[in-house]
Amino acid sequence: MKVAVCSGSFDPITLGHLDIIARGAARCEKLWVCVSPNAEKTNQMFTPEQKLTMVQLAVAPFPNVEAELYGGLLADYAVERGATTILRGVRNGSDFDAEMQLAAINHGIHPTLDTWLIPASGPYAHFSSSMAREMIRYQQPLEPYLPPAILPMIQTIWNQKRG
Ligand code: ADP
Repeated sequence: MKVAVCSGSFDPITLGHLDIIARGAARCEKLWVCVSPNAEKTNQMFTPEQKLTMVQLAVAPFPNVEAELYGGLLADYAVERGATTILRGVRNGSDFDAEMQLAAINHGIHPTLDTWLIPASGPYAHFSSSMAREMIRYQQPLEPYLPPAILPMIQTIWNQKRG
């Protein structure tokens, strides 16, 4: 696996996402992280640019990982970047069902593409961005859930939102 793509809404990136990215990056030469603006999800807490900046801060320690915003089809993005593998994390049965469907769709769009599913690491299996957003809203400690590098930015944005 030379070039791979990992995608998500990352609203915001969690330690669970970062674990998948780190494990993926250790197994390929170049990993592109595709940050999706995600028109389907209307309850986003962060703007696409803020989400991208947070992913960039979180992946900074990995020299072979680069993050970009991409509003189009993930399959097109992967091909543009010369990737033949899409990496996705799976936490449970419902993730698995959804990922199986996505994998078939992406393979149908570009038959060169294959999806590899990575099982969530035990401690992160119940982490989600929606849970992280609740923790931010209710000002709970964020260190257990979010990459340390993004905490100052989250704090600044949240303070601005609350005026
Ligand atoms: P999407 O809207 O594309 O599902 P998410 O940011 O919610 O975007 O998730 C992106 C990918 O990361 C998905 O494959 C999802 O299953 C996976 N993922 C999310 N949280 C975790 C976690 N805690 N551990 C492992 N994988 C995760």
